[in-house]
Amino acid sequence: MSADPITLARDLLRCPSVTPREGGALTFMERVLAGAGFTVHRLVFSEPGADDVENLYARIGTASPHLVLAGHTDVVPPGDESRWRHPPFAGEIADGVLFGRGAVDMKGAIACQLAAVLDYLAANSSEPKGSISFLITGDEEGIAVNGTVKLLRWAAARGEKFDHCILGEPTNPKELGDMVKIGRRGSLNGTLIVSGTEGHVAYPALADNPVRRIVAIMAAVMAEPLDAGSAHFDPSNLEFTSVDVGNKTVNVIPSEARARFNIRFNDLHTQASLKALVEMRARAAAQGGRFRIEWEPSNANVFLTKPGVFVDLVSGAIAAVTGRQPELSTSGGTSDARFIKDYCPVVEFGLVNATMHKTDERVPTADLVALTAVYRRILDRYFA
Ligand SMILES: [Zn+2]
Repeated sequence: MSADPITLARDLLRCPSVTPREGGALTFMERVLAGAGFTVHRLVFSEPGADDVENLYARIGTASPHLVLAGHTDVVPPGDESRWRHPPFAGEIADGVLFGRGAVDMKGAIACQLAAVLDYLAANSSEPKGSISFLITGDEEGIAVNGTVKLLRWAAARGEKFDHCILGEPTNPKELGDMVKIGRRGSLNGTLIVSGTEGHVAYPALADNPVRRIVAIMAAVMAEPLDAGSAHFDPSNLEFTSVDVGNKTVNVIPSEARARFNIRFNDLHTQASLKALVEMRARAAAQGGRFRIEWEPSNANVFLTKPGVFVDLVSGAIAAVTGRQPELSTSGGTSDARFIKDYCPVVEFGLVNATMHKTDERVPTADLVALTAVYRRILDRYFA
């Protein structure tokens, strides 16, 4: 099998694997990996009320250290295909740029992982000095209940032990080599519900207007930052995303008001400490008035892979290939790294994220070659 990342990326992009469809992408990976000597497992996970989704786990080697290369082959829908310069599932190259849904998020990076591993194995008599695994889900872009969480649980149950993981999500804002993600903020959603007493708008003394109180509570909750940030994280942030009374009548004071919010939080907080802080501020502002906060369950906790030998190895490889010293960042939304971190240290490095989820998602073929060289160098150093 060719270790050319451009050929591999085109083959993957031609598989229409919009979540939850496999689209041939995992079948293609299975063929490539089995051909290289990997033991490949195809796993279908189910959940009531959700689509069944296919996943893949493949390993070569039995010794430690065990490096896991993680990612997802599912993609978001292409939208209006007529707006694409090149069809989203054709894998066309124009002027050195490969177009297609998933080019950067993240079939391109998976092609680079594959190419780097094939090349590494060819240079090492088909035997890694340790173990290499691919942990690939088809359920990242959807509701993600039949993907990485279950795949990790399945692997742990059969005794798989991981030492380190590289997730190939697109991490670079502008140029390959800009940014490695060494952690992610946590995410927590809540709804503030303020109760009052309805009444005629001309007789406010006979009512208790919840709108007055929700405004006061919201202002108090937002007034001060939740913290001042930490060594590797920006300050935690609370944003209200919706305020609703739903009152269609002009002369009625409503009985209830609601406001939804999201908090992105850093390693100075846990979910419990945040809830306590927000509720304390709200209580002070409510001055005895009725309110409650409903918190949604969240599996998006903050995590940090502390800078050290592994992070240095990855950023050193990036610097050697790209000439850039990558920023160690914890910015952006959540990713499957939040699940992997419960099993081993994980860092994320992939392609440039500027066109992800957009019409004309695309990647310069030179970036595929360079990212393959980065992964290849990481393999050499990791198993040295
Ligand atoms: Zn992605």
